[in-house]
Amino acid sequence: MRINKLELFHISIPFKVPYRLSWVYGTLEKAEAVILKVHTDGGLIGLGEADPMNPFTEETAGTVMVVIRDVIAPQLLGCDPTGVNRIEALLDQSVRGNPTARGAVNMALHDILGKAHEVPVYTLLGGKLHDRLPLLGAIGSGTAEEDASAIEALIREGYRTVMIKMGSLGIGEEIRRMVSASERYGNQLVLIVDANQGWHYKEALAFLEGIRGHAPLVIEQPVRYSDHVGLSAFRDRCPCLLSVDESLVTVEDAAILAHSSAADVFSVKVSKNGGLSKASAIARVADGFGLRCLMNSMLEFGITQAASLQLGCTLNNLLDCGHAYMSVLRMADDVTDFKDNIADAMVQVPAGAGLGVAIDDDKLKKYTVETLKIEA
Ligand SMILES: [Mg+2]
Repeated sequence: MRINKLELFHISIPFKVPYRLSWVYGTLEKAEAVILKVHTDGGLIGLGEADPMNPFTEETAGTVMVVIRDVIAPQLLGCDPTGVNRIEALLDQSVRGNPTARGAVNMALHDILGKAHEVPVYTLLGGKLHDRLPLLGAIGSGTAEEDASAIEALIREGYRTVMIKMGSLGIGEEIRRMVSASERYGNQLVLIVDANQGWHYKEALAFLEGIRGHAPLVIEQPVRYSDHVGLSAFRDRCPCLLSVDESLVTVEDAAILAHSSAADVFSVKVSKNGGLSKASAIARVADGFGLRCLMNSMLEFGITQAASLQLGCTLNNLLDCGHAYMSVLRMADDVTDFKDNIADAMVQVPAGAGLGVAIDDDKLKKYTVETLKIEA
């Protein structure tokens, strides 16, 4: 079997409601992604997705398309797509960075490999340990009262883990939000705070001081991605688990963070981390250091979410809480059928071959703003 054509679709779909993150990112109105179809001479098509989000990632939808066209496609066309490790090694040598572009390709190759052998990708990864996983609900930045109404809506839908986005308000207001959520819901919910790099180290310490007795299970990325010293010092003083997200892109990042005791939890995202091969390696590094994984999500559509689920269901070191398989629910629409796996705030691992997700070509056409076709 040989790869004979790549098709790329830059899609743009609005959120149901605007999503307010830390000051680093501001308020988001829509999600952008690049959907990849890898065609083979045998007729099998592999699906991939890139979820770039500048300045979280260094990539944009435009750079993903250019890097795949100019650097990756010339090496991919004509290759046997089932040689996933061979292609991964080739791209390790020839492409620096660009993890979301690499991730889309790696997802699509796993999809083809699974479809060729008529097994789900989790079988290729050694088999699943979980048939279904609870969902994490994420709420944007707001006042304590706005948080309460958003959290109560999630509780009514069955969610038992809520991630509260912080890092856009003054630290006093963030403390009020945390204490209020803990007092009202701490006995029935797992609470996670994600500051998305929004604090300086001393603000992060002031937050810990202010929420004494009301700590969440996890605080994610309190300080800038590059501040490993701050992360490590914060972890020493933090009564709860410290998760790294923006700091954790490559397998090398994972090794350095683990070795420098800068985290308790790795926030794993299959697109951000460069695909299933790399995300799986990162999860193994975590396991080797006794760290746990939170299966987290960029602003993802169903292909990345399906790939993330195929990996998440095989891991023995998942954090004991909900995981971010709800990304498509916060969008006005999706181009796949992934949401059919979700009911009662749980996601069921699909039984289909490959990634177990199908694309809706009418919706793909509707939301595509730019397309590219590359043939051998
Ligand atoms: Mg995060």
